[in-house]
Amino acid sequence: MDASILLVGSDVFRLALLRLLSELNPFSIEVAPNLQEALPLIQAQQPDLLLIQASQQGSLSLCEQIKSQNRLAWIYCFVLEDTANPAFQPRIDCSELVSENAIVPSVRQRHAAALAAGADAFLEVPLLETDPQGEWRALIRAQIQAGLRQVRTYRELIRTNDLLSAIALLDPLTELNNRRAFEWELPRQIQNARQREGLISLMMLDVDHFKFINDTYGHLVGDRALKVLAARLRHNLRFYDTPFRYGGEEFVLILNETGEQEVGMIANRLCQIISAQPFTIDETLNLKITVSIGAATLQPEDDPKGISLLQRADDRLLKAKSQGRNQVVSG
Ligand code: GH3
Ligand code: MG
Ligand code: MG
Repeated sequence: MDASILLVGSDVFRLALLRLLSELNPFSIEVAPNLQEALPLIQAQQPDLLLIQASQQGSLSLCEQIKSQNRLAWIYCFVLEDTANPAFQPRIDCSELVSENAIVPSVRQRHAAALAAGADAFLEVPLLETDPQGEWRALIRAQIQAGLRQVRTYRELIRTNDLLSAIALLDPLTELNNRRAFEWELPRQIQNARQREGLISLMMLDVDHFKFINDTYGHLVGDRALKVLAARLRHNLRFYDTPFRYGGEEFVLILNETGEQEVGMIANRLCQIISAQPFTIDETLNLKITVSIGAATLQPEDDPKGISLLQRADDRLLKAKSQGRNQVVSG
C-alpha cells in the first residue's frame, strides 16, 4: 500500500505503534516527538494519516487546525492513547468539555472532545498490556486501514476533479483556454493589476474572411487553420501573456504589465507575423490568412469584471474590420 503516516507521541507510544505498523503493508512512516516538530512535517509532506497521542499537549488543537485548512483537511486524524503506559493521564486538550467538579474526564467525554475538535477517530487502548487475542492491535490496524481507504477515495476524487476542471476550461480544438476560462480569469487579473498598481491590456483578434476558407476548402481545413493560428499565437507571446479561444475564429489575449503603447506594438507584430507566413495545412495546401485586432488597456473607470475593457477592444476590432481588415486598432 502506497501510504504515508506521521506518528506523533512519546518514545514509548511511538515504539509500540511502530511495532504494530510493521505488521501491516509497507508504509512510509515519519515520527515526531511533539507537536512543534510535527507541524512543519505536516505542512511540507501532507501525510495521509496522522496518528497522534491524545495526551500530547495541544493534540486536539492540532486536529482543529488541520481540519480548518482546506489544503490539509483531508488528512485522516487518528487520536490514540495507550492506557497501559505508566505515564498515562486521562487528560485531554479540551478543558471546556469537562465540568469543574469532575477531576478526570470520562472516556466518553474524551472521545466526544476528540471528535468535536475534528479527529476522525479516537481510541484508548492498553497498548502495552499483553493482548493474547491481538484484539486491540486488530482494532487499531482496522482503524488505520479504514482511514487510509477514506484518504485514497478523497485523493482520487481530487484527481478527477482537477481533470474535469482542466477539461471544462480547455478548448479541445486549439488546446487554448476557452471563453469560460477567460471569464473566470479576467476579473482576477484586473484585481491583481489594481492591487499592485500594474498595467493590463486586452487584444481581441478575429480571422479575416474565415467563412471563405470554410466554404472553399471545407470545415476540416478551417479547423486545421485555427489550430495553426493558435500555435502561432502561443509561440509569439511572452510567458505572462495568455491567449484564449473566445469562440469560433475569435481569440482574446490578456497581456500583463502591458500599457497602451506596448499592446499596440505587440498587436501589430502579431498581425504581421500571421500574415507574413503562409499557414501550412498539408503538403499540398498553404493558405494566406490575415487577422484584425482591437486592443485596449485597463483604465481606472473600467468595471472590475472587465466588461467595459472587453467592449472597447471589441469596438476597435470592428473598426479594424471596417477599415479594411489585416490591421490593428488600439487606443
Ligand atoms: P470577417 O472578416 O468579417 O471576420 O469574416 P468571417 O468570414 O471571418 O466572419 P464570419 O463571422 O462571417 O464567419 C466566421 C466563420 O467561422 C463562420 C463559422 O462557420 C466559422 N467557424 C466558427 N467556428 C469554427 C470552427 O471551430 N471550425 C471551423 N472550421 N469553422 C468555424
Ligand atoms: Mg472573422
Ligand atoms: Mg468572428
